[in-house]
Amino acid sequence: MVEQKQENLDVRSINFEPADGKPMFQFKPGQFAQLSRTLEGGAKEVRFYSLASSPYNAKGFTLIYKLKGSFTNFMNAMKKGDKVEVMGPMGHLAFDEGIHRKVVLFAGGVGIATMISIVRYIIGRKLNVPIILFYSSRTLDEIALKNELDGIAKKNRNFKVIYTVTREDPEKLKGWKGIYSRRVDGQMLRENIAKPDEWSYFVSGRTQMAVDMANAIKVLGVGQDKIKVEGYG
Ligand SMILES: Cc1cc2nc3c(=O)[nH]c(=O)nc-3n(C[C@H](O)[C@H](O)[C@H](O)COP(=O)(O)OP(=O)(O)OC[C@H]3O[C@@H](n4cnc5c(N)ncnc54)[C@H](O)[C@@H]3O)c2cc1C
Repeated sequence: MVEQKQENLDVRSINFEPADGKPMFQFKPGQFAQLSRTLEGGAKEVRFYSLASSPYNAKGFTLIYKLKGSFTNFMNAMKKGDKVEVMGPMGHLAFDEGIHRKVVLFAGGVGIATMISIVRYIIGRKLNVPIILFYSSRTLDEIALKNELDGIAKKNRNFKVIYTVTREDPEKLKGWKGIYSRRVDGQMLRENIAKPDEWSYFVSGRTQMAVDMANAIKVLGVGQDKIKVEGYG
């Protein structure tokens, strides 16, 4: 572990580099890794986390995790130099610039970890790939990486971020412009995506949310082959 920082109340970013100094595994933006540790008594505790950084020229990788239970509390307590076992990369949800020319990304909650890797990669490499990111959170406080996302949107005409909150107090939403306050639906997509069949779609979040988002995309008449979904269970 190299460093970690708080992104919001219960979401943290954590950076790792190989302890042996050897080159890290190669991954594609959107993939995840398996982390494990050995518990007292010898049992292994295993969890999966999206690789949230860009793989381009990377010495290590970043994860973004939401504090929940056993493993995330263990990560939260890690100090510089502490070690964890990592295996990867894994997962079929992966951006490939040879295939995906225009991308719509859907992140639910901590699913932003998957999508920020794709955004950081495309922007970092200055690829000519337009991105529309739909980012759904329960409340305004739960939106992570907002400064980074808004900063990228300001500097790049090719990047648009659309926030939606599903359980926010309407009073708190007063004064916020351009934020939806409902689940992602076909209407929201139609308002923001021109020529829907020209785009490739990536969805990541808790399983039910991911299924709902994928269904909203299908309403636009987009073929299943253009939609990649990853559920967090
Ligand atoms: C492909 C994939 C990618 C993923 N990527 C990410 C990611 O990028 N970031 C991320 O944060 N997560 C990600 N996850 C989820 C992650 O793998 C873990 O499941 C998550 O971090 C919770 O692990 P934990 O050990 O902290 O919680 P756990 O201890 O496993 O607890 C999980 C839930 O059970 C509840 N719980 C725990 N103990 C008890 C108890 N005794 N009684 C009642 N309830 C209890 C907790 O409150 C919590 O809601 C991903 C999952 C998959 C499959």
